[in-house]
Amino acid sequence: MILIRGGSVFSGSTFSKGPFEVKDVLIDGDRIAAVGSVHPGEVDEVVDASGCLVGPGFVDIHTHLREPGHTWKEDIASGSAAAVAGGFTAVVAMPNTDPPMDEAKIAEEVMRRGAEVGLIEVSAAGAMTQGRAGVVPSDIEGLYECGVRIFTDDGDSVDDVDVLRSVMMRIAALPGAIVSQHPEDAAMTVDGHMHEGSIAARLDVGGLPAEAEIEVVERDLDLVRETGAGYHCQHVSAAGTVELIRHAKAEGLPITAEVTPHHLTFDDTALADLDTDFKMYPPLRSVDDRRVLREALNDGTIDVVATDHAPHTAKEKSTSFAEAPRGVIGLETAAAVVSEVVDNPARMFQSLSVNPASIASLGDQGRPIAVGEPANIVVFDPRHVWTPDRFVSRSANSPFKGHRLTGRSLLTVHKGRIVHRLVGAA
Ligand SMILES: [Zn+2]
Repeated sequence: MILIRGGSVFSGSTFSKGPFEVKDVLIDGDRIAAVGSVHPGEVDEVVDASGCLVGPGFVDIHTHLREPGHTWKEDIASGSAAAVAGGFTAVVAMPNTDPPMDEAKIAEEVMRRGAEVGLIEVSAAGAMTQGRAGVVPSDIEGLYECGVRIFTDDGDSVDDVDVLRSVMMRIAALPGAIVSQHPEDAAMTVDGHMHEGSIAARLDVGGLPAEAEIEVVERDLDLVRETGAGYHCQHVSAAGTVELIRHAKAEGLPITAEVTPHHLTFDDTALADLDTDFKMYPPLRSVDDRRVLREALNDGTIDVVATDHAPHTAKEKSTSFAEAPRGVIGLETAAAVVSEVVDNPARMFQSLSVNPASIASLGDQGRPIAVGEPANIVVFDPRHVWTPDRFVSRSANSPFKGHRLTGRSLLTVHKGRIVHRLVGAA
């Protein structure tokens, strides 16, 4: 048995309940056995959580674990270790692996390997089209059968409207299944490397217009009206996209949206020296876009913070800005960023645990800290000041390197077992 003592415990499941109270949490086996004032008595271990938040472990619905196929960047074991260091107890692995997760046996193998590593719950997203080529729908029903609920060709949009419509009609027939779109009109981003605006013009770098994102989402919303499929918008970066999502939600469409920690923190002014650790898609946009994203997270228009954890090695990133691969890591720094940006700590658990678990249909995740619930728990210290320099991830392509952060996950419990403990704390 493990006793987590004296933390501010997140016991509700909705933001409106304002659900924090100072309590002890007793874990027995893989369940929460008691919440309240608990005597240490027979426990094996006591964790002092005073001053810390205790809540459901974080859930990342947008992680690139790079296995199979690109394991020099990351693999399921190293990605799981990075996840627990960041306080995550579950991730959804993106299907742009090699081979891609476009059939059940590959997705099944990723989930099996995740369970074998045993640090977190590894769920798999399935590709919407065979080979992620955007032409022929994948085996949607077969993937669903093996547990896949999120379907995406992430890294690319499905451009062909007829292909996307037929995929969405099939997904609409499967309870809990959703389309998760990477909105990018490829024709508008061919020679682009950063947000199209005055900074790109000054640096003489090809621009990526916000319209490349906005126009895809606008088109997709028509397909949601037509098919009724659940739709999740990945990595929203532009104010115009936020506006579309706000209206679609008001209209009652089954829409959710995510934002990344890097889009909440940085804007294109961070690109002055063309550091390739700030290159990703969608790109860091304007100061105004960043402000709108923060507001949208705090007013609930954006449901989820997802990392888009995309490892690339230092060697791969050590090239010109134009040639460097897109993507940055994010699992280890995400919660600190969210803690700094949200107007209330309940919003952190809502956007990093409750909502992503619900969107991904992960029934053992994002649960309130209450008796009988699965012991998937994070102890987060909102006061801990640190500056990331080394990472548990196999790759270190983080824009937060050398960036002072406040807030850190001290302890992660998965299925009742301590899977991460920050050395020198808790
Ligand atoms: Zn993407």
